Amino acid sequence: MRFDIITLFPNMFNIIKDEGVVARAIKKSHLSVHIWQLRDFSNNKYKNIDDKPYGGGGGMVMQVKPIRDCINKIKQSSPKTKIIYLSPQGQPLKHKLTKELSMFDAITLLCGRYEGVDERIINHDIDMEISIGDYIISGGELAAMVLIDTVSRQIPNVLGNINSLNDSFTNNLLDYPNYTRPKIIDNQKVPEVLLSGHQANINIWRIEQSIKKTKKKRKDLLKN
Ligand code: SAM
Repeated sequence: MRFDIITLFPNMFNIIKDEGVVARAIKKSHLSVHIWQLRDFSNNKYKNIDDKPYGGGGGMVMQVKPIRDCINKIKQSSPKTKIIYLSPQGQPLKHKLTKELSMFDAITLLCGRYEGVDERIINHDIDMEISIGDYIISGGELAAMVLIDTVSRQIPNVLGNINSLNDSFTNNLLDYPNYTRPKIIDNQKVPEVLLSGHQANINIWRIEQSIKKTKKKRKDLLKN
């Protein structure tokens, strides 16, 4: 899978390119990440890509032309790429959507800054707007990294031996409780069944615990 990212802060993406699941997936060629500095598409010597909003008010707005030129350039090497604008006004990024996105061959992520982008980019050039939650962050870069990380986990072979089948939200349930050594700590014992070696009983216990946890912490998931 190919990700193209349009950003004013390319270095922020070193975090996922250098370490962790995404970095390993890049090394193994399960995915590629291409970063585009939007200022390279500015048409003035100051490399501006923003201007004051019509109608007044504070802040700046990202202009149509540099974004459109950048998207067109990306489409030359990735013609079928889905253009996604990270936006608090977009559809919420949920587990089901991460699976759907992982089916695409290529995704371009537009990271907003300031007051966001000129509305005409959203109307004309964007396939989808996606939000990572009902709050405002200062730019789309962190949202893009969240999206890349979670979508990558859905791509076959990216996780290798890591078991994600029981991850929270996979079956509209939260994950079961996990324990590791030592057997007792702070007077809390590891549940006997996990030490029994009886895999069928362990599986049943885990499902029961998943349901119990979900009822306690996220009842809303059980409606699905
Ligand atoms: N004025 C905009 C609004 O209220 O809709 C918010 C602009 S925000 C300061 C700057 C950029 O951060 C946005 O253009 C968007 O790319 C990104 N952003 C902020 N909150 C986000 C969220 N919850 N999910 C995804 N992206 C977000």
